[in-house]
Amino acid sequence: MRSELLNNPMFSMAATQFDGVADFLELNDELRERCKWPKRLITVTVPVRHDDGTTRVYFGHRVQHHLTRGPVKGGLRYSPDVDLGEVAALAMWMNWKCALMNLPFGGGKGGINCDPRALSTGELERITRRFTMEMIPFIGEDIDVMAPDMGTNEQTMAWMVDTYATHAGHLVPGIVTGKPLCLQGSAGRTRATGHGVAFLASRALDKLGVPIGQATAVVQGFGNVGLHTALTLSSYGVKVRGIADITGAVWNDAGLDLPQLSAHARDQGGVRGFSGADAIDPAELLCQPCDILAPAAAGMVITQENAPKLRCKVLAEGANGPTTPAADAILNERGDVFIIPDVLCNAGGVTVSYFEWVQNLQRYQWTEREVITRLETQMEAAFTRVLNFAERFRLPIRTAAQALAVKTVSDVKAQRGMFP
Ligand code: GLU
Repeated sequence: MRSELLNNPMFSMAATQFDGVADFLELNDELRERCKWPKRLITVTVPVRHDDGTTRVYFGHRVQHHLTRGPVKGGLRYSPDVDLGEVAALAMWMNWKCALMNLPFGGGKGGINCDPRALSTGELERITRRFTMEMIPFIGEDIDVMAPDMGTNEQTMAWMVDTYATHAGHLVPGIVTGKPLCLQGSAGRTRATGHGVAFLASRALDKLGVPIGQATAVVQGFGNVGLHTALTLSSYGVKVRGIADITGAVWNDAGLDLPQLSAHARDQGGVRGFSGADAIDPAELLCQPCDILAPAAAGMVITQENAPKLRCKVLAEGANGPTTPAADAILNERGDVFIIPDVLCNAGGVTVSYFEWVQNLQRYQWTEREVITRLETQMEAAFTRVLNFAERFRLPIRTAAQALAVKTVSDVKAQRGMFP
């Protein structure tokens, strides 16, 4: 299993980052082993009847990195090439993210190897319900709480709640987060991740002395995270000049009209062909001069090829794992890009998921203002903690964030001791 996981590029990237941090923390061999490897790796087959009458078996994975500090928390992604190694890497990152934000959760992640863009609503519903049913022995409000991720949304969560409730015989709202508001979702959850990305990007610009009202941004991804990153940045007065998604990339020097672009993307299935902008090569988009570059889609998109060419002041990682270790080394060497690492930058989503779970357990609903205020307070605190730690030990910000997180987890493991 070790070599199977390490052969996966994304897991090997997460493991390389972990090893570096464990070296810095001088973790002993026992804690290294216990922190690095996931507690549970679950794979199930998900047979689904398609609308045309054919049946296909998909593979669904859920990795629970560990349950040392509480239930595991993390999203469920639908993506054609998702596999166990990728899910395990994402679960490990969720682990550090929850610890860094002081949430009482371990990290988990799930994935099904289906292409949501190629499936009908009915097919998606059947996949979701069958996967949820297969997961019932392994999940629960106090065990594992899923949420949306790439390719899933609040409708997916509603089907999961309904399937779980049908099985349990009563509504269990805290079984997943990122639910629709009418189903005890949380105010502010939809925009939470993007809001957090934009909020920290603005804090970073502040540190660099760049006035936010004169700043420009480029966003890669126009799903939930990319859209809300762009909208929040634009509400701060930032000109969002370029946006890419899987259909292509668009550019407007004067700043994109986001409501119009969003309507176009909804009707046409993507940003391509938007009349209020010029088309631009998606790879070139990343290398355009801007104050904020926010990769908010897939992993491993900032590579050793494009890292030397980036012309942003702040790299705000809305996606999970967007920067490869080789690219990270290049950017650290350059020293002119302020990196807000994924585990910190996109932690707004899971933080509001935590608020949603708390509201569900309390059977109480907070206002959007309460949610966003608490979110910003929590993100500001983590940002300050990370920057102080980085400065104190002269570390890159990513290493500082991961070191704080790993330390939180390893301290609890050491204190609890090992069974038997
Ligand atoms: N999928 C999101 C993430 O990667 C949110 C997870 C959650 O809310 O549990 O952080």
